[in-house]
Amino acid sequence: MTVPNHRPIRVRIAPSPTGDPHVGTAYISLFNYAFAKQRGGKFLLRIEDTDQTRSTRQSEEAILQSLRWLGFQWDEGPDIGGPHAPYRQSERLHLYREQVEALVAARKAYWCSCTEERLSQVRKEQMARKQNPGYDRRCRDRDPAEVQAEIKAGAPGVVRLAVPREGTTVFNDLLRGEIKIENSEIDDQVLLKSDGFPTYHLANIVDDHLMGITHVMRGEEWITSTPKHVLLYQAFGWEAPQFAHLPLLRNADKSKVSKRKNPVSLSYFREAGYLPHALINFLGMMAFTFEDGREIFSLEDFVQHFKMERISLGGPVFDLAKLQWLNGRYLREKTSDAEWVKYLKDQLFSDSYLTRIVQQVRERVEKSEDFIGYADFFFKGSVSPPVAELLLKGKTKKEAVELYEEFVEKVDTCFDFSPPKIEALMRAFCEEKGVSAKEFFAPVRLMVTGKKATPPLFETMAVLGRERVRTRIRAAISELKAAKLPDPQPAAEPKK
Ligand code: GLU
Repeated sequence: MTVPNHRPIRVRIAPSPTGDPHVGTAYISLFNYAFAKQRGGKFLLRIEDTDQTRSTRQSEEAILQSLRWLGFQWDEGPDIGGPHAPYRQSERLHLYREQVEALVAARKAYWCSCTEERLSQVRKEQMARKQNPGYDRRCRDRDPAEVQAEIKAGAPGVVRLAVPREGTTVFNDLLRGEIKIENSEIDDQVLLKSDGFPTYHLANIVDDHLMGITHVMRGEEWITSTPKHVLLYQAFGWEAPQFAHLPLLRNADKSKVSKRKNPVSLSYFREAGYLPHALINFLGMMAFTFEDGREIFSLEDFVQHFKMERISLGGPVFDLAKLQWLNGRYLREKTSDAEWVKYLKDQLFSDSYLTRIVQQVRERVEKSEDFIGYADFFFKGSVSPPVAELLLKGKTKKEAVELYEEFVEKVDTCFDFSPPKIEALMRAFCEEKGVSAKEFFAPVRLMVTGKKATPPLFETMAVLGRERVRTRIRAAISELKAAKLPDPQPAAEPKK
């Protein structure tokens, strides 16, 4: 494989800290890591937090922790620094600004003052004419002074790339061969947003260039962005790295893996008691097979034997049953009794976890032998709520399902999973949806514990943790969806 300018190999993963650490990030990390380590290269971690509204430090911390748990060590990153620090895009804004100004000066990019109203009008007209929607390039040929005057007067100012009107953009994907696209099909991308933040395209390219990235290995969902990136490299006059777009992880029905069909958060796998080595092994099997056909391998084996040529592009299925089977093998074959005991003590029966549970149950249990009977749901992998009791008064099953689905989305975003935050979230949700808190809390209690009598709900949920809570709610929703139940009668029950 050729390396641009024979530069030392440098690859990166560039997660956006906008949610839970995703299993896809671990999968992409694994392939990048193996490629770099095998060739004495460097593996970088860069945080792409230019989406100010969705990025959080908690999410960043959770991503870093999960990747460390899996055994990855990066050579440069926001936590350890490095020669190209900072490694967090929100701390590099001046660099993007400088570069974009150079592009504008070279007339490869231009300021645009079109308002949102105008842009949506243009889109509407294009749709009516059955054209692809895109920017009509009005500001591209205008007098820049005029555009600037409008921005000074309050119009939103963005910088767009002046995409060549003619010609073809071609790049080579190491896994897929030559990919071509007509420039006429590429929109004049926004590079700098009106809030002064770069778009993903600009920041990604500037950083990959400044950080000396030689190979960009990322998920196939980015293929459509790559021609824009190639054009940006050309506009800057920089050499582009080599690209390899890895096949996306899929659900069994071939749709893109998503939390609605499978758990996808690395925190879930950790809390549910999967072993990091088993998960790494499983992710390695996703798009790669060993020449000797082995199915059990370590991170080190993967680094040693990885070959780009052996990546297969057929959509790898993230099959939870297979992961469970593999984890079982790791427990049976690679974990001694002592290791397992230690693991259980560290994870499931840690002093801190038991203390939190004892604080909740001490008022409610008479003798210690009743402890497990009362508190079993704190330790179980799953619980079995009585499905018929998950219906809500005056609502059809479909309405209840929709309500719970909306609720679990809220739980997904509740990073600070403390009792007051949970309470506030649940009460606000009931208020917004016009359901009585009392009636809504009861089925939620059943979904997360399987029981009617438990310690106080918010405290219980906080101790269980967000991962268990949402996994159990999602499991209960699927049970409810599948169950054949008569729709409930209207709210008021006739008096006897
Ligand atoms: N920030 C992008 C992500 O979240 C990075 C994509 C890329 O590797 O270029 O996946």
